Amino acid sequence: MIRISLTPIPLRIAALTQERNSLFEYPVERLAGIIKEIGFRCTSCAKCCTRAFNGHVFLLDCDVSAVKALDPAALEPAPAPEFCDQNGIFYVSGYALRTQDDDAGSCWFLKNGRCRIYDRRFTICRIYPYMLHREPDERGTIDWRQFSGLDRHGEYNAVISEEESLDLARETKEYENAFLTQEIEFLGFMQEYFSRHRLRHVQKVYDDRLRRFNRGGEITVMVYYDGRLEKHRIRK
Ligand code: SF4
Repeated sequence: MIRISLTPIPLRIAALTQERNSLFEYPVERLAGIIKEIGFRCTSCAKCCTRAFNGHVFLLDCDVSAVKALDPAALEPAPAPEFCDQNGIFYVSGYALRTQDDDAGSCWFLKNGRCRIYDRRFTICRIYPYMLHREPDERGTIDWRQFSGLDRHGEYNAVISEEESLDLARETKEYENAFLTQEIEFLGFMQEYFSRHRLRHVQKVYDDRLRRFNRGGEITVMVYYDGRLEKHRIRK
């Protein structure tokens, strides 16, 4: 069962806004220094392009536009919708890349271990494995994380120039800022949308519909994109 946040929307917006302010304050040179120190080099293992390794690939709106132009079939509503109203309609903050039906859950664009659109790959694909957001560690202490999957892919201690590490750090910060902004805008939109249509999130309806979905049933998911909602009927 997916347990979604029951924190009221205004508090969630306030928390995300605070997170974004902290992100602004994080010195780009510090992140660049960590990138340089880790010295990650991709070995083209393609693990990071699979659901088995990475869950799902969430897309920023600008990247969704690119996928729509390339191949709309590559899009699917991101998993774990944030809301479900009393009528059983789900709402999610954006799209993810669809995966193929193989065991690893390879990205739609992965073929023979290579990205078919490498030169046009999306923001998250360009910056991965770097990140900059705060998460609790195993003791529950919340701190910044700058790297995903350390020692589980790629090779380390490569020489990365000052310029390259700064470029990567800047792009990582820009991505995290865009991600938080999209989440904040989605929550603001939902607050107004629910109020205007007299809707409310109902956890029991959420759980019942999700159970039905997991047994092969069809559900309706409204995906937030470009300041509006797009409707999808989906099956597992
Ligand atoms: S678009 Fe390309 S780089 Fe991005 S996850 Fe898919 S295969 Fe990997």
